[in-house]
Amino acid sequence: MIARVTLDIAVRKEFDYLIPEEIKDQVQVGSRVKVPFGPREVLATVTALPEKSSYSKLRPISKVLGRNPLLTGRVLQLARWIAEYYCCSLEVALKSVLPESVRQERSGWRERLFVRACAAPQGASPKLTDRQGEILKVVREWHELPLQELLKLTGTTKATVKRLEDKGLVTISHRVSERDPYAGEQILPTTPLTLNDEQARALAAINTVIDNDSGSAPGRTFLLHGVTGSGKTEVYLQAIAHALEQGSGAIVLVPEISLTPQTVERFKARFSSGPSKTLVAVLHSQLSTGERHDEWHKIREGRARIVIGARSAIFAPVEPLGLIIVDEEHETSYKQEEAPRYHARDVAVLRGQLEQTAVVLGSATPSLESYANAKRGKYRLLEMPSRADEKKMPLVRVVDMRSEARKQKGPPIFSIKLVEAMRQRLERHEQTLLFLNRRGYASSVQCPLCGYVAGCPHCSVSLTYHLHKERLCCHICGYEERVPGTCPSSECGQSSLHHIGLGTERVERTLQKLLPQARIKRMDSDALKRKSDYRRILSDFRVGKIDILVGTQMIAKGLHFPNVTLVGIIYADLGLHMADFRAGERTFQLLTQVAGRAGRGDVEGEVFVQSFTPSHPAIQHARRHDFVGFYEQEMEFRSELGYPPDGRIAMLTLKGRSEDKVSFSADHLKSQLETECAGFSDLRIAGPAPAPLVKAESFFRYQLMLRTRKMSQLSRLLADVIASVKFPEAVTLAIDIDPVNLA
Ligand code: ADP
Ligand code: ZN
Repeated sequence: MIARVTLDIAVRKEFDYLIPEEIKDQVQVGSRVKVPFGPREVLATVTALPEKSSYSKLRPISKVLGRNPLLTGRVLQLARWIAEYYCCSLEVALKSVLPESVRQERSGWRERLFVRACAAPQGASPKLTDRQGEILKVVREWHELPLQELLKLTGTTKATVKRLEDKGLVTISHRVSERDPYAGEQILPTTPLTLNDEQARALAAINTVIDNDSGSAPGRTFLLHGVTGSGKTEVYLQAIAHALEQGSGAIVLVPEISLTPQTVERFKARFSSGPSKTLVAVLHSQLSTGERHDEWHKIREGRARIVIGARSAIFAPVEPLGLIIVDEEHETSYKQEEAPRYHARDVAVLRGQLEQTAVVLGSATPSLESYANAKRGKYRLLEMPSRADEKKMPLVRVVDMRSEARKQKGPPIFSIKLVEAMRQRLERHEQTLLFLNRRGYASSVQCPLCGYVAGCPHCSVSLTYHLHKERLCCHICGYEERVPGTCPSSECGQSSLHHIGLGTERVERTLQKLLPQARIKRMDSDALKRKSDYRRILSDFRVGKIDILVGTQMIAKGLHFPNVTLVGIIYADLGLHMADFRAGERTFQLLTQVAGRAGRGDVEGEVFVQSFTPSHPAIQHARRHDFVGFYEQEMEFRSELGYPPDGRIAMLTLKGRSEDKVSFSADHLKSQLETECAGFSDLRIAGPAPAPLVKAESFFRYQLMLRTRKMSQLSRLLADVIASVKFPEAVTLAIDIDPVNLA
């Protein structure tokens, strides 16, 4: 009997081992094992049980970890696809698929002392003091509880409880105690809402696929295009309920940034708090290693049937799986930025095909990729064009900041109209959200005499001035320095530096001077010192202790505050100037999402979009809530250049400390590709060119951009080419298939 394994260490190869007779029943595909490798032992995952091996003299597996295989066969299939399509080794793919906390040899369970009541003794009961009697009563009420909790509840000591044990009334023993990241929260149950027609139609289509698990692949994936506030979440909730009724579970992916307590609560409130008490497991990066371990096993053992999580939750071992939901499917955070560079939305669609489940991709602003797939008939399009609760879409006004600059004599932060609108809201006790996607006070500091700009010594960006810290900071690598009193350039050394550009700190400061009576709070990653700050600010905002909330993309998504009737977008052009063909699409999405925060209550919402390029199509289409118009215009430009979704991109980035070596290697790689891919008909190779961010964290970066319509084929070819090309030692190559970040 032979097991083929992938080792946890990077060797880019699979190895065969013998399965010793005494553990043969425990070794399955997906089992974690320990095997001898050279002089040491390493952990590995069983990926196949082949009939025979082409090697003789196989060594035996030393040990099997755990009772059940950790990986299901289907998740293993996903890992293989990821390795192939995204050009990485299987062990790298497996690293993402199985979280570190469950890969370890030691079991990750936390053991604690538990006190348990014994059956009442026959005959005369032992004599107890009043105190002992009280404690025993508590234990009997609970039947069983952690010792620490008993001590807290009764204010007693371990010695006292021990005396009860000596009398044979209770036992104290080690037990596994499950960590619950949401313990101690009271969530009020909710019941399903009566759906409106649009919602009902969408749900019916999804439920039909959930019911029929033998349908053909293309019909199983939906794109749910519903405006902000159209009630997509309610559709998700009812589709999940339907999957549960059919005996299967569900995975809900949400972007990390919107995995807020508010979001998690909506799911727990429907499923965990009600009579059915279905466990909802939550997976995200804020969990401790132990919490992640326990959440994962709750899923693996089938106790949690619903998983809500960020990107990597797509690998959650839910069995059987009936439904996958990818909320805000256009979000770039679904793409992993290090190897394996997979896109969780695309993995979701593939998993749906492998497991014959329904997949729902939801968004108010779908990615052009997904919308194009819907138009081509690869996905089924479900439209929800109006808000669920009859609320109107907010009125969006675009303010031309060029004419404001003339009126106000100098680049303004706030247009006169926006300030007026905020004043009105203050008088009416309504709330305002102000959005600017940049932290800090000023985006750079500059000498007005010689033009010197303080830059990061490790990255090709200017340093951002942070007023509160009184420091200059790099937003790429985190480098900080103190603010120089005078211009540090050698010829100058005279004047003090000026603040150029805007950040949220400056918005907050300036606003407080304009509206001294307003209660203003800032929410960005600088303002949040502790984990709990986020919740505190949001709950203060909810109960009306804050009039105006200023923030970065943290406040752009998913928040639902009925009393917000005004949204101001301070500088809508910020993202338009990025060297990225998706700059327009990102801006359209962001503006639409932010605008969607307004008018979710009884009063109609109003949005001010401040822009220096007010006629830009991304801004104009967002103003009219016109996704389809934007899509059609943008597609023309994409098709002309062979950009996605028309073609596909592979970005090859070379990195190293020596710019010469990096640039030389990029040239070398290009000529290799040109030779090896000569027969590849529609391949276009652009570059090499310095990356938009040419230096980051002291590494120089050069890029080659490959465009084709046949990416799977190109991936395979790339894997071969890469294996044969030699680079200088200090130069590394990263392959990013379907990149979302071109910087
Ligand atoms: P989306 O996820 O599409 O942005 P939400 O699910 O957050 O929208 O819904 C917006 C609001 O509409 C929520 O307050 C929700 O409770 C409410 N809502 C959703 N569906 C209905 C319905 N059928 N009837 C009444 N209110 C609804
Ligand atoms: Zn830096």
